Amino acid sequence: MNEQLVTAIKELKEQKNAQILAHYYETADIQDIADEVGDSLYLAQKGRDSEAGIVLLAGVVFMAESVKILSPNKKVLVPDREASCSLVHGSPYAEYLSWRQEHPEAIAVTYINSSAEIKAISDVICTSSNAESIVASIPKERSILFGPDKNLGHYLAKKFSRPMLLWEGECEVHVMFSASELHRLRSAHPDAVVLAHPECNEGILQQADVVGSTSRLLKEVHTNPAKQFIVATEEGIFHQMRKMRPDVELIQSPVDDSCGCAHCPYMKLNTLEKIYDALRTEEPKIHLSQELLELASVSLNRMMDITDGKTVDWPESFVPPQL
Ligand code: SF4
Repeated sequence: MNEQLVTAIKELKEQKNAQILAHYYETADIQDIADEVGDSLYLAQKGRDSEAGIVLLAGVVFMAESVKILSPNKKVLVPDREASCSLVHGSPYAEYLSWRQEHPEAIAVTYINSSAEIKAISDVICTSSNAESIVASIPKERSILFGPDKNLGHYLAKKFSRPMLLWEGECEVHVMFSASELHRLRSAHPDAVVLAHPECNEGILQQADVVGSTSRLLKEVHTNPAKQFIVATEEGIFHQMRKMRPDVELIQSPVDDSCGCAHCPYMKLNTLEKIYDALRTEEPKIHLSQELLELASVSLNRMMDITDGKTVDWPESFVPPQL
């Protein structure tokens, strides 16, 4: 059945000149049919630069919105419109706007895991792979509001010894890793290299040998001669890690959850069947108003410019848009 479905998806993709982009947290079968697999920055860049008329993003909705904002003329599809994110749910627009208005002089740095509306009231976006270069580009005298992930914000504030005002949001998956269980696991595997995503709590990050985005963690597995790795990020990443290094033992960092898995329920809403249906019907598609596209593109394009090594201007103070 899967083989037939995979063949049907490939045929539809050809017929419709579509490109499939998948995040590392998707299931192995979805990663294997994708044209590109990557982290949120890579997918945003690939989506923006794609020459296909249709981009189907198998990830979560904010990732597909980012492609639409960067490339408004493309048709951007998602397999399941409900594939959201706890960081999006934890940052409602009205409350975020009030917080932003309390600090009009600050630069609002916003994690890409946010709604298009939040991006529209932000100065610059970051992903976990470029967050350090984004923060480093902000003049020292400017204060910083960082949201919606408090753990990534705390990690950056500590790394740069730079105070930041943090929004109290978190990734419901990465905060499940247990620091005490990781401690026990490390004692049992003293030679293992511990890899952690910066959305994890500080208790995990303090024990990690490498903290970084999914791409950074993959690179470490690829290049580090160690034979054991303990991994504190979503389980979907293991598929590419196993492909890269079939010779190593990959151990999931233990989680405080009854299923014992580090499983993002939003990413896992996507299936091959839904991908096939989305390509066939060209629904669900991302639709954002022209005004929202323009407003959100400012912070997202500023991130792209900094990532491409360009110099950017910073606004003196925040002026709330009429949304
Ligand atoms: S893993 Fe966490 S941050 Fe990523 S989509 Fe799932 S809930 Fe959101």
